[in-house]
Amino acid sequence: MEGCRVSGGVVIMTIYDIITKKKQSEPLTDEEIRYFIEGFTKGEIPDYQASALLMAICIQGMDDRETATLTDAILRSGDVADLSSIPGVKVDKHSTGGVGDKTSLIIGPIVAACGVPVAKMSGRGLGHTGGTVDKLEAIPGLQTSFDPERFCEIVRNTGIAIIGQSGDIAPADKKLYALRDVTATIDSIPLIASSIMSKKLAAGSDAILLDVKTGSGAFMKTLDDSIALAKAMVSIGTRSGRRMMALVTDMDVPLGNAIGNALEVEEVVNTLKGNGPDDLSALCIELSSYMLLLAGVADSLPACKALANGAIESGNAFDKLCAMVFAQGGDVSVLTDGFDKATVISPLKSVSSGYITHMDAEACGMASLALGAGRVRKEDNIDYSAGIILCKKTGDTITAGEELAILHTSDASKLQAAQAILNNAITISQTPPSETKTIQAVVSDTGITLF
Ligand code: URA
Repeated sequence: MEGCRVSGGVVIMTIYDIITKKKQSEPLTDEEIRYFIEGFTKGEIPDYQASALLMAICIQGMDDRETATLTDAILRSGDVADLSSIPGVKVDKHSTGGVGDKTSLIIGPIVAACGVPVAKMSGRGLGHTGGTVDKLEAIPGLQTSFDPERFCEIVRNTGIAIIGQSGDIAPADKKLYALRDVTATIDSIPLIASSIMSKKLAAGSDAILLDVKTGSGAFMKTLDDSIALAKAMVSIGTRSGRRMMALVTDMDVPLGNAIGNALEVEEVVNTLKGNGPDDLSALCIELSSYMLLLAGVADSLPACKALANGAIESGNAFDKLCAMVFAQGGDVSVLTDGFDKATVISPLKSVSSGYITHMDAEACGMASLALGAGRVRKEDNIDYSAGIILCKKTGDTITAGEELAILHTSDASKLQAAQAILNNAITISQTPPSETKTIQAVVSDTGITLF
């Protein structure tokens, strides 16, 4: 049955018929999908009918063609960035979000130091996950909002700029996301993939590397779901002519040791100077290498890895970060002298001895949030100095009385709740845990490689 009816010899498309069609698991035509997005964005299709269709999509799914059309319709609801004044292949990277994930601030400078322009729009954190824009704004004076001409100019002059979402990018997604959030329709792969990719495609880069997180701190908790999301997003990008790859990476433990904005920027600096935590440093070299491969800088992954490592060893990657911070109006001295510390710094000590067998990444993020490092509601203020330094990670041994973590906050009254959440997040047992690989799968338009 088509999502339209004939009245007096005239064919009329109706949202009622489109909902019925998807409820019966029939694929929607491109015309029907565009009718829905245009009508919903203009306010002609009410929330209750949009909710019914979203629920039908959630339950019945969408094929690759429907998902790509949905993405394109959402993208066309707003502005599309024009990066054509920046010479070279522009490569973007998107992480589906995690705890302690400061990779954009490390790999952006590495890739830019290797000659690939990075013109990146990033998001803010909400809930237990952090956002790159918030981490950048921990640097005094740094601006994350520029008009498109100035944004392109900074990239042309410096090789890199990372800003917040500017202009009116994908307004249909804002409206859809707000409705999905209150109608239990977030967890649908076609809806998540089209939401993320509409914004990434609108951001204008030629190639996109996706870092799809999997595990307790991730949006997608299982490897199968994470791979399915990665496949859906790679397919959307490839269909719209972008070079695409996705890495599915572990988010069962926080990435690196620092959680919280200024603490994470300090860890970024250490990593760019070659002194970062092993898991973070290794992942950043992998992500940078795949970005360089997508940009066509070298034709093999080992050659790209050598370039990425070289950018750290030469100091060029750290210099790129400093140049970007300067160009965006930030105080570069915090990158060399450090940030002002939180007024309350308190260790959390272990009460037992053994192996750390599990660290619930989402709960670690919630503990950092409880210290003031994030927002519960969009309008909340952030305490940039707040957060956690993990002294031990999954797989490490610990003895009773040893420090598990150091908590930072400007508000002593927040300490007790954060300590309780963090204590509950960490499991100590007598047998060592099995090892988890940081990169669990690579997805490209030609297939999936599992590790
Ligand atoms: N992030 C997005 O931007 N959209 C989703 O639907 C889920 C995560």
